[in-house]
Parts: sequence; structure tokens; C-alpha cells
Amino acid sequence: MRDKSTSFIRSLCVGEIEQDVLLPYPMMDSDEREILGTVVESVDSMLEDRGEDFRAWDEAGEMPAEFVEELRQFGLFGLIVPEEHGGMGFSNMAYSRTLQQVARHDGSVAVTVGAHSSIGMRGLKLFGTDEQKARYYGRLATGEMIAAFCLTEPDAGSDAASIRTSAVEKEDCFLLNGSKIWITNGGIADFFTVFAKTGGAEARSKLSAFIVTRDLPGVEVSAHEDKMGLRANPTTAAYFEDVKVPKENLLGPLHGGFKVAMEILNSGRSGLGGGCVGAMKRLIGLSSRYATERRQFGEPIGSFGLIKQKVGHMVVDCYAAESAVNLVAALSDRGYADYSVEAAILKVFASEALWRTADEALQTAGGNGYMREYPYERVVRDCRINRIFEGANEVLRLYVALTALNDVGQRLREMANSLKGIFDHPIKGFGLLYEYARRRANWATGLPREKTSLSRTHVALRPQAEIFEDLTRDLASMADRLLRKHGKSIIEKQFATRRMADVMIDLFVLACVLSRVTASIEKRGSDKAAREIEIARVFGGQVKGRAARNFRKIDDNDDELVKSLAEHAYEIGGYAWDVI
Ligand SMILES: Cc1cc2nc3c(=O)[nH]c(=O)nc-3n(C[C@H](O)[C@H](O)[C@H](O)COP(=O)(O)OP(=O)(O)OC[C@H]3O[C@@H](n4cnc5c(N)ncnc54)[C@H](O)[C@@H]3O)c2cc1C
Repeated sequence: MRDKSTSFIRSLCVGEIEQDVLLPYPMMDSDEREILGTVVESVDSMLEDRGEDFRAWDEAGEMPAEFVEELRQFGLFGLIVPEEHGGMGFSNMAYSRTLQQVARHDGSVAVTVGAHSSIGMRGLKLFGTDEQKARYYGRLATGEMIAAFCLTEPDAGSDAASIRTSAVEKEDCFLLNGSKIWITNGGIADFFTVFAKTGGAEARSKLSAFIVTRDLPGVEVSAHEDKMGLRANPTTAAYFEDVKVPKENLLGPLHGGFKVAMEILNSGRSGLGGGCVGAMKRLIGLSSRYATERRQFGEPIGSFGLIKQKVGHMVVDCYAAESAVNLVAALSDRGYADYSVEAAILKVFASEALWRTADEALQTAGGNGYMREYPYERVVRDCRINRIFEGANEVLRLYVALTALNDVGQRLREMANSLKGIFDHPIKGFGLLYEYARRRANWATGLPREKTSLSRTHVALRPQAEIFEDLTRDLASMADRLLRKHGKSIIEKQFATRRMADVMIDLFVLACVLSRVTASIEKRGSDKAAREIEIARVFGGQVKGRAARNFRKIDDNDDELVKSLAEHAYEIGGYAWDVI
């Protein structure tokens, strides 16, 4: 029986490898796989050959109403709605795989479908009462109501707790006032999950979530934003003026809105990740064909090492991202209570892997890549937002590392308490504890082998498993060292926390890759899984190299110099030098 309260990555930072969480690699049940296969095929037949339409809609910045109707008819708005309410009742794994298929065709279509299910109506799924579900699920499943998620405001982006939209409790309703910006699907939505302050302007953390429908008097949306990418999706502002929101539309607990928002975003991340993977698969196809067809110097450009390097790395990035996306989706499907750090990791890794892939695919296509006639520049524009929305990657990196450092700090404090009296003098700082932390990090504290190794990965992957195990030891001592060096002020040391986050991201994704390749070898045999073993080898090597650099830079870095250059630029308002 699995312990569903365990987080793989948080345990890793205190030196424990919780293999149960990631191994064996999750498989979809056969019924769902069968249905998914049909859905994926139908998505292809609906969206293929629409390339010219997608290009025209991107240029116009508008998706025609008839096409949104096609999406409704297809059932793409009912993916996560339970079957008894008229939806497909997909698991997160199947949902993420479906979005992957949509994203292979077009980013704007994927985000229209994704924003509805990943964030727009997910609050209802996670926190809705039976009565609320009965009221809205049916119309959300058919797409009669399309959903949107309304958190961001002009002065509240990453700092969501600083929103100003307010909901004041009256006798029979909440009176909602405020405005939201950059709402994906705003132009076509009828169902808004809106976050508002309910504890007065001063109570930063007292937010609540509400279901607000378009028909309520006082709800307005703006014209569509003119965006860099995802141009066919209607992104708008939303305005709420003295909107009387019925009390039964409170979503989740009163003042519990911050948690509601975070859980929606966590739970929805495998959707965004699936979209990234889909776009990467499409780019790998485009680049492979281009590399074999385009000839220069008498040869296909694909025969040149530097082009192979790009395409080979795209394949590795895609496999790694896909492995993590599936695993995180499965954690949520299996009811793990705490996978928020893993979900943040998947979002950062997948969005950046797609960005690298899109950039290199465009480069592979040379000047053609820059032309609107080809799809590359549009994918570059479309995918850039993934690093910004649903939690900017900088902020998610801080979340990843600081959550782990907090755990480590807590363990050290517990150790300090349990060690009281052993020493002649009280333990004040982290100094003395460091020796104990080192012992823990060195696994001299008697953890069973099961918890100190990735022993369940296939023997063909032993070298990569050893890289993982070694780096886990180093990660645990990195956490200790950072805390010893900076104490509580670690929170302000963002260069250092970023390095720690980067190691954690790499290690989690490597573990996902090793788990998946193990499953593949066990199912198909080493010969048939040979390519996947190669991917694991390349990715393991990349992780080892990046982690070594990050560890080295804990003490040997130019962080203060870099900061001072930035401060100088702020001071003078730009760049100081010229040659004339
Ligand atoms: C196309 C599009 C669609 C969107 N869809 C939605 C939607 O449907 N619903 C919704 O509610 N919102 C939506 N958003 C808003 C989006 O979620 C925000 O843009 C995002 O949360 C970042 O907020 P911000 O843009 O205000 O950036 P800011 O928070 O101002 O951040 C600016 C930069 O500073 C960095 N930064 C911020 N804080 C820190 C810190 N403490 N330490 C280090 N770096 C930091 C950020 O990472 C970023 O690089 C959308 C945005 C766009 C552009």
C-alpha cells in the first residue's frame, strides 16, 4: 500500500529516495487507453488539413464562432467532466494526452480547450459542492458554458495575494467589485472562477473563490487583447461592477481562496505540460522532414552534425518532458496529497524544453523558419507564454527550492531539539548541526538501501541510477550548506535558490525518465528499448554536467558582481558604455 502523503522530491531533499512514488511507471488502464486512442484519432481527423485556417485566424487575432461550435460538437469541453454529467470522465493522464494531440495542430485551439478544463472549471471539479456540480457540469461538458479563470489584476500578477477585487458579504449575496486582466477565453466564457478579497482590503491572505456567470448584471468583458502569440484565443479583461453573486456560488471555503487557486493551478499543470509535449512532437516531425529535404553543400542539412545535435536534443527534451508530465498526471490521478513541487517542476521543465525546441526548430529551418508562410515562427510566438502564465517560471523555481529548504530547516530544528543535552552547550545555529546534517546527507543514519538507491530501475540503467543517487547525496548536502551559509536570509538569495531548484528539476525529471525506460525495457526487452536507453544516457549525462556546475557555484560564483551590475543599470536607467 502506497503512502499517499509522500512527495518524492521533498523526500529527496532530505536524502530519501521514495521509489514507491515513481516506480513502476504508471500505465493507463486498458479501457481508458482504448477510448483515448479513438479520441486522438478523431482529433487528428478534425484538425488536420486546417493549417491554413489556423494561420489565418492567428493573423486575424480571432477564432470564428463556427469553429468554437465544432469544438463543442466534438466534446472537447467535456474531457474532465464525469460521465454521469455528460462528460468523458477522463483521468488527468488521458486529459493531458488529449491536449497533447490538440496542441500538435494549433496552440490557440489547445489553449482554448485547456483553459476551460485545466483552470477555468477545475475549481468546480476540486472544490464544488454536489449542488454546484449538478448546476453547472452539464452545460460545461457540452461547452454551452465555456470556462475561464480570473485571478490576475493590473497590480497583482505573481503576487496573487495582492489582488484588489473585493467581495463583500451581504444578507443574500456577495457584492463583487473589481477588474481582472488577461483572461484566457474571456471573450467566449460564460463561467468565470473569480478570486476576490473577502477579509477587507488589508487582509492580504483572505481571498475567496466564486463562480460568476456571464448573465449576472454587472459582468462585462473587454475587446480581445492584441497578443504576440495564441492570437486566435480571445484573451480579455473582465470587469465586475456591483455584481450580486449568490451565496451558493462561493467555491471552497470562505477566505480559503488562495488554497483554491494554488490547487487549481497544481492540478491543471499536466494539461499545460501535455500541450507543450504535443507542440514538441510536431516540431520534431517538422524539423526531421526539413533536415532530410533541404540540401546545402550538396547534402541534406540533416547530415551535418550540428543539425543532428539539435534534433537529437529535441528528442531527449521531449521524452524527458513527456515522462514527467505523465508521472505528475498519474500522481494526481492516484490521489497523492502533495505533488505541488513535482507539478511546478513539470511546468518549468516542459515549458522550457518546448522553448528550446521551438527555437532550434526555427534555426534548423534557417530563413524559412523566420517566414510566416512556415509554421515555426508561430509556434515560437505561441509557446513563449508558457514560461510566464500559470505561475511564472522564476516564481515556481523559488517555490520548488524554498519548499525543500523549509523541510530541511525543519528537520534540522527537530534534530537540534532531539540532541539537546547531548552537548555541553546549547546548539544555537546550524554550525554544529552541520556535522549531523552531513551524516544524514551521507546516509550514515541507517536508512535502508530501499530508501537510498534507485534500486528498482533496470540494471541496464545502473550508471544513470548511480548518477541520480550520487546527485541526491549532493543535493541533500547542498540544502544543508545553503542553510548553514545563509540561514533565514536564504529567502533573499535567489541566485542560490535557483541553482538548488535547477538541480531538483533535473533530478526529478531524470527519475521520471529512468522509471519510464525501466517500464519499457521490462515490457519490450532491452533490444526494443535501445533508443530509450540512449535517451536515458544522454539525459543522465546532461543532468550530471548541469548539476556539477550548480554545486560548484554554491561557493565559487560571481553573484554579487552580477547583482551590482544590475543595480548600476537601474541607477542610471540603462547601459553606460559606448565606443564614441
Ligand atoms: C496570454 C496570457 C494569458 C493569461 N491568462 C490568464 C488567465 O486565464 N487567468 C489569469 O488569472 N491570468 C492569466 N494571465 C496572467 C498570467 O498568469 C500572469 O502574467 C503571470 O502570473 C505573471 O504575472 P505578471 O505578468 O503580472 O508578471 P509579474 O508578476 O509582474 O512578474 C514580472 C517578472 O518578475 C518575475 N518575478 C515576480 N516576482 C518575483 C520574485 N518574487 N522573485 C523573482 N522574480 C519574480 C516574474 O517571474 C516575471 O519574470 C495570462 C497572461 C497572458 C500574457
